[in-house]
Amino acid sequence: AKNCGKNNAKLYSSALTTQIMSYVKLEVGLRRALQNNELYLQYQPQIDVRSAQVVGVEALVRWRHPEYGIIAPNDFIPLAEETGLIVPIGEWVLRTACLQARAWHQQCRRAVRVAVNLSARQFKDENLAQTVLSVLNDTQLDPRLLELELTEGTLMDDALATLATLEALRAIGIYLSIDDFGTGYSSMNYLKRFDVRALKIDKSFISGLPQDSENAAITRAIIAMAHGLKMAVVAEGVETEQQLTLLEQYGCDMAQGYLLGRPQSQDAIAQMLAGPLPA
Ligand code: C2E
Ligand code: CA
Ligand code: CA
Ligand code: CA
Repeated sequence: AKNCGKNNAKLYSSALTTQIMSYVKLEVGLRRALQNNELYLQYQPQIDVRSAQVVGVEALVRWRHPEYGIIAPNDFIPLAEETGLIVPIGEWVLRTACLQARAWHQQCRRAVRVAVNLSARQFKDENLAQTVLSVLNDTQLDPRLLELELTEGTLMDDALATLATLEALRAIGIYLSIDDFGTGYSSMNYLKRFDVRALKIDKSFISGLPQDSENAAITRAIIAMAHGLKMAVVAEGVETEQQLTLLEQYGCDMAQGYLLGRPQSQDAIAQMLAGPLPA
């Protein structure tokens, strides 16, 4: 076993070494990103399908790296999860999003719900409910204007602790939704037990619509099930008018996607909210 390192050393290509180097650099950078104000949020509108009104926004984090430019969350959230940095980063996201939702409410006199993504690691943090409570308290945001997006994977493990955490969050009065629904290990049992406001149909099911009859069947089934359980449905990744029309026919409640608005700045959202209400 002692020789292993020596022998394996040959296997590292210089490209891989470079990759590892930059990975380390990325981690060092991520540790400083918060204090250096390099993280920022964009907000993507969620539209009520029938009224065409903006009813909510999803907060999506980005990293403005001093050397690498803008880094998408898929390229640093996994690292943040591995290192535990997701806990302070997640708290910053939560606080920033709540502060912003409160500001929109005051500026535009329109209540807009803000949805924040929560990773499994944050969900397992025993201080989560306390953190949410103190952020709501500090920002004076109505808890009914905050929604946390969890994935099926997050809800699946360790059912007892999961239930306790969900109960604590429910008691605060915020909403929960299930993100990327249909892509994880679903147990219909948890939908019955947990108080979930909405299912977000993953964009991989929406992207093939209207042609893909299998994805159409899955989409309809998810909507029927959600409504049967008194949950709302948000379709993600809506990119075309045809998709939106079909979703409306299926009775989908809300839609989110490039057709309806890209992730954008808080000022752009404020303009959207200040504009005239659609007829
Ligand atoms: P997600 O939660 O499923 O977010 C939706 C992603 O789909 C976003 O990518 C959004 O920009 C993109 N999207 C929206 N509409 C469309 C569309 O019409 N077509 C297509 N092709 N894509 C669309 P983004 O912003 O790159 O985020 C990627 C993922 O990173 C998110 O997926 C979420 O899992 C994670 N993430 C983002 N922000 C946070 C955060 O603050 N905390 C945590 N824990 N995760 C985050
Ligand atoms: Ca999400
Ligand atoms: Ca999603
Ligand atoms: Ca996701």
